Amino acid sequence: MRKKIVAGNWKMNKNLQEGIELAKEINSLVEATDIKDVQVIIGAPFIHLTELNKAITSNKIRISAQNCADEKSGAYTGEISASMIESTGTQCVILGHSERRSYYGETSEKLVKKTNLCLENKLTPIFCIGEVLEERQSEKHFDVVKSQISEGLFHLSAEDFGKVILAYEPVWAIGTGVTASADQAQEMHAFIRKTLVEKYGKEVAENCSILYGGSCKPSNAKELFSNEDVDGGLIGGASLVAEDFMGIITA
Ligand code: PEP
Repeated sequence: MRKKIVAGNWKMNKNLQEGIELAKEINSLVEATDIKDVQVIIGAPFIHLTELNKAITSNKIRISAQNCADEKSGAYTGEISASMIESTGTQCVILGHSERRSYYGETSEKLVKKTNLCLENKLTPIFCIGEVLEERQSEKHFDVVKSQISEGLFHLSAEDFGKVILAYEPVWAIGTGVTASADQAQEMHAFIRKTLVEKYGKEVAENCSILYGGSCKPSNAKELFSNEDVDGGLIGGASLVAEDFMGIITA
């Protein structure tokens, strides 16, 4: 049975002290609430990782980085490797976020290397895919998403693919306040699952958690998450306020 997951992506927000405070607030709310079947993930800046791993006491919460280097180690000034991330106690890494694809030249080629390094270091990739508005308007969205998945992930064995979390994030919905409708989300998630069935078979596809991301809020989370193929969310803005994030987790 696939897991229900709500993952926050803090992006480049919160200094260290603010981040620890927010993580502790989320920790207390999660501890005080009956959310048996939901895995919560906090995607924080690199400098927060060690401290957040110390601050979190709930076994329902995992910490995630938002990126990792595409090389193992060496003369790559300013980069942070997967093994460094793992050494902080962190368990996941967000890869291929649209902001990294568009602002930092994150190509499928780089994502293959990053995914492999995450898996070698026992880190769970939260692999993001999604089309821009023009691609949807010209009805290329299914092709775009299929290419992103096949180019970035289909080199993996079924066993390794089983360790990956997917996040469908239509770029036109990220940080815009415009959410995909529940039907649009379900249509794409079902398409993604069908793509996984074709490559890895039914069992692997059924076990893969596919999260929705893009202007998800407490007010629309329930409708989005009630779809059969939507297994939770990747949350940007609303993950920066503990009560809002909690409202999405309980949805
Ligand atoms: C994101 O950037 O992953 C995201 C989903 O952002 P927001 O929730 O703010 O749209």
